[in-house]
Amino acid sequence: MGEHILVIDAGTTSTRAIAFTADGRAGPTAQRPLTQHYPRPGWVEHDANEIWQASLSCAREVIAALGGPDRIAAIGITNQRETVVAWDKASGEPVARAIVWQDRRTAEMCAAMKEAGREAEVQAATGLLLDPYFSATKIRWLRDHDAGVRDVPANRLAFGTVESWLTFKLTGGAHLSDASNASRTLLLRLDGAQLDADLCQWFGIDRQTLPQVVDTHGALAVTSAEVLGRPIALCALIGDQQAATIGQGCLTPGEAKATYGTGAFMLANMGQTLPRSDHRLLGTVLYQHGGQRTYALEGSAFVAGSLIQWLRDSLRIIGNAAETEALARSVEGSGEVVVVPALAGLGAPHWRADARGLIGGLSFASGRAEIARAALEAMAHQTHDLATAFAADGARWTRLRIDGGMSANDWMAQDIADILALTVERPAFVETTALGAAMLAAVGAGVHPSLNAAAAAMRGSVAEFTPAMADDVRAERLARWHRAVAQA
Ligand code: ADP
Repeated sequence: MGEHILVIDAGTTSTRAIAFTADGRAGPTAQRPLTQHYPRPGWVEHDANEIWQASLSCAREVIAALGGPDRIAAIGITNQRETVVAWDKASGEPVARAIVWQDRRTAEMCAAMKEAGREAEVQAATGLLLDPYFSATKIRWLRDHDAGVRDVPANRLAFGTVESWLTFKLTGGAHLSDASNASRTLLLRLDGAQLDADLCQWFGIDRQTLPQVVDTHGALAVTSAEVLGRPIALCALIGDQQAATIGQGCLTPGEAKATYGTGAFMLANMGQTLPRSDHRLLGTVLYQHGGQRTYALEGSAFVAGSLIQWLRDSLRIIGNAAETEALARSVEGSGEVVVVPALAGLGAPHWRADARGLIGGLSFASGRAEIARAALEAMAHQTHDLATAFAADGARWTRLRIDGGMSANDWMAQDIADILALTVERPAFVETTALGAAMLAAVGAGVHPSLNAAAAAMRGSVAEFTPAMADDVRAERLARWHRAVAQA
């Protein structure tokens, strides 16, 4: 029996494989970049075979580095969510390019459905909004417009998200999707065990072309012997943001994580309570075990690290992202300067696609240090607005665990703690997505008895940032921010 968990992380820009030990140490790693195809403005596609081949070669490379497949106890897959693959079950080959989550080609379809007045009903059922981001309209588009898809008889046609595609290839034919990925399709009721017949009908999708919904962890399937050298148990399937939430140890209701990468993604554990949002946050399945679900509430800010890239590449007031920290520390405050990073509209809880960014409060005393500091302060402000929306929807954050490239900024981490008046925690091991999938697979394989036990054994040390800001300073910062948001 092997002692390692092999995680395949099929992301948007690259595919990786990482081996973990039962105590959470990361071993050999392999990575392949993934080609992005942009056939038209607003369209984003991947080659599903490239995802499969990259996953397979990364997995084989890591297995070889460990000394063979006998060293692997179980496999966990985590993946970019919402992206749709279409394939022929008989040939095992993709029949169209995968439509990626970022793809906006179904915007008109979504607008028409919204106009028909169905969004409230869909949101209540699925936790999601009628947006091209989610899978259902992408599936419908492929069925209507792709000749390769239309040529395949319905009893041979398969649709699935990326974990579903990889599972099919690894097992040589199982057509499964886990509940966390299925909860991003618009076809799963938050309280429904399987994809919903009425929702499928409403989106015009043939139920027989869709996967069976299974737990996120457990004895889910077994790989075919020839793929990795011997049959290996597939013990976890989980969407990337849910995996990061588990990797951050957010296992109790109210525990929340924020990933600050290009954009910022926040998820809070809701326990067994069905998430319902009055603030356009998303309700989603965090994980499912033995048919029982734990839910999360999710919100995102479109612009986070991309604001820092903009300071570097367009304004050219910094040479690299890390320089913002020294600049922020070099001044007592941002003066009156406030940045609203609505460069691509405002996401949750505002949802104003037409909003535009602004830099306000400039005076002759404002220099690049004030602007850089105000840009970092904007991260705490956006996070505060989301925390307020989460609390209003029943998920009051008890502390915030951060990760992503931007979380390396200590000044920003402290500022977020100060503005939220909450302890902010940052793990030393920042690959929380892969770690989360490894934790689930370890529980799924019986290596650890529970997620709490897996977290205790596998999560490493953390740095803590405790709030130290005076209440009046915080109130003044937030008042200035809210005035600026109203202008944007
Ligand atoms: P993604 O996964 O979305 O590609 P990453 O998690 O790799 O993004 O984070 C990269 C982003 O973080 C970049 O936009 C970069 O500008 C920002 N970033 C990286 N280091 C710092 C830092 N020390 N301070 C502020 N921003 C940073």
